[in-house]
Amino acid sequence: MNDFNIAENYRRLRDSIPDHVTIIGATKTRSADEIREAINAGLGVIGENYVQEAQGKHAELAETADDAAWHMIGHLQRNKINKALPLFDIIQTIDSPRLAKGISKRAETPVPVFIQVNIAEEESKYGVEPDATFELGEQVSELPGLRLEGLMTMEPYFEDPERARPYFRRMRRLFEEMRDDRRLGEYLETLSMGMTNSYRVAIDEGANMVRVGTAIFGPRS
Ligand SMILES: *Cc1c(COP(=O)(O)O)cnc(C)c1O
Repeated sequence: MNDFNIAENYRRLRDSIPDHVTIIGATKTRSADEIREAINAGLGVIGENYVQEAQGKHAELAETADDAAWHMIGHLQRNKINKALPLFDIIQTIDSPRLAKGISKRAETPVPVFIQVNIAEEESKYGVEPDATFELGEQVSELPGLRLEGLMTMEPYFEDPERARPYFRRMRRLFEEMRDDRRLGEYLETLSMGMTNSYRVAIDEGANMVRVGTAIFGPRS
């Protein structure tokens, strides 16, 4: 247990962020009870990183099904696609044509997806390289069963989030370029970037979805 008041943290965060910005609760390692507390306070989107972990919590939180959407925000392995599809409303982590095709093949209804961009080209991070993002967007747009609705990034971590600003700015340019393309942009509306220590800068630079764990649920143990 920590002495964090989850409901209060969520409301304070919600009040401090413009209405057009969607808050995702990044809930890896958090229990179903902790997540329920946030949903009851108004949190409308749950972001999970692992299919297995999400499966258990999704079942435990069945009674909140009408109150919260679930987004996959971690790397999706192709052998987990079948399990992931019924759990998640949106998959934010498309980073290769192979993964996109795998989902396309198994989709029964159109699956909303985001492309994950490795904006700083870090070895340690998943995501498509910035220069290859437009092309992956074209490939995704041509596949049946997928609908490209957003771009997502995990920026490099800096203690001073101002240092992440150039990466957020680059994401926004990429996002606008794709959104202005007639084929790619049809459903492209969401720019998912910014975490606990960086969401203010990300919103400044155009994020309309932020993924926040620590500021709502406290430090992860
Ligand atoms: C954990 C996580 C976050 C949130 O991290 P915090 O620093 O706890 O806010 C956001 N996005 C992804 C993909 C994550 O895995």
